[in-house]
Amino acid sequence: MTVTVEAGTPLKRLNLALAREGLSLTNMGDIMEQTVSGATSTGTHGTGRDSASIAAQIRALELVTADGSVLTCSADENPDVFAAARIGLGALGVVTAITFAVEPVFLLTAREEPMPLDRVLADFDELWSENEHFEFYWFPHTGSTNTKRNNRSAGPEQPVGRLQGWLDDEFLSNGLFQAVNWVGRAAPATVPAIARVSSRALSARTYTDTPYKVFTSPRRVRFVEMEYAVPREAVVEALRELRAMVDRSRLRISFPVEVRTAPADDITLSTASGRDSAYIAVHMFRGTPYQAYFTAAERIFTAYEGRPHWGKVHTRDAEYFSRVYPRFGEFTALRDRLDPERLFLNDYLRRVLGP
Ligand SMILES: Cc1cc2nc3c(=O)[nH]c(=O)nc-3n(C[C@H](O)[C@H](O)[C@H](O)COP(=O)(O)OP(=O)(O)OC[C@H]3O[C@@H](n4cnc5c(N)ncnc54)[C@H](O)[C@@H]3O)c2cc1C
Repeated sequence: MTVTVEAGTPLKRLNLALAREGLSLTNMGDIMEQTVSGATSTGTHGTGRDSASIAAQIRALELVTADGSVLTCSADENPDVFAAARIGLGALGVVTAITFAVEPVFLLTAREEPMPLDRVLADFDELWSENEHFEFYWFPHTGSTNTKRNNRSAGPEQPVGRLQGWLDDEFLSNGLFQAVNWVGRAAPATVPAIARVSSRALSARTYTDTPYKVFTSPRRVRFVEMEYAVPREAVVEALRELRAMVDRSRLRISFPVEVRTAPADDITLSTASGRDSAYIAVHMFRGTPYQAYFTAAERIFTAYEGRPHWGKVHTRDAEYFSRVYPRFGEFTALRDRLDPERLFLNDYLRRVLGP
């Protein structure tokens, strides 16, 4: 039950090819436009109680290293490279092929339901423990969230109807959402009122479908995002602080905050490395100033030893990472061994890993 694909394969092609064979990945993120190497190298994840990021589903990996040699790794072969290269940030070599664990395709029932933020925060532990995949979106300036619970189901398949799907996923979540964000960008004072309307636009729905159709959805409204993993037991407190910060401030935020979880994994620089984690993602509509919001949010997340998503906005550096990743030195030592001349160095890697 493994599948080997070329590193540049887009996730959507992988998902379709797997479905044709009656197979599926166990868990995935919100979209499937990324390549398998881009998604895994940055630690891309969805939400899961028991199942972790896409990289955690890798069983073997092929890497072309700085000296031009081809190195294969797995739990049995070059296990030190395998531990790090699944989320390698492009620093260890060029990933050329990835072998994923797959399973027979299954059905997921999604329950999407608006819920007051106070209730989600009070019941977070139950909502997390009673569902295989729990996540929610909180709309700043409101006490409202949209929750999503995905659980395996025996069927029957009950996809979202074509018209309902277009209305919810294209018109409300993309077309209309884009329009209200234009209004909010032009007239920031309207944002809290818009947020109240946006948070009520989607009504409850339940559907059952193949995993990739439940996990992923179209995202056409452009945004800037920062996302931090905090220890799971700290997420409710961190969210209360985030809410208090927004309420105290003059910020106007038209995009929801997304909250997800992941179990601890064994990948050296995974945001969930050795730590049960919850992800808090803040977004701003593209073209709206985001620095003040992200700076204030980042101050909250870093107080909990938060670990930023490697592929999203953050301001952390190697000194910080050496404190929040117990195995940071293991990664940099491997980098010294595999790329002593720093063939793969760029400005981002210089900041997050050091020269
Ligand atoms: C609309 C949207 C939704 C998103 N949703 C989620 C989500 O739900 N969860 C989540 O965690 N993230 C999410 N992301 C972030 C996204 O998954 C990452 O930014 C991902 O890295 C993008 O993949 P890509 O193929 O475009 O990457 P690229 O930009 O091509 O690559 C990203 C990095 O990966 C490394 N890399 C890529 N290919 C190789 C290779 N062959 N060998 C070695 N290193 C390589 C390099 O360091 C490169 O800079 C989202 C992003 C967007 C825009």
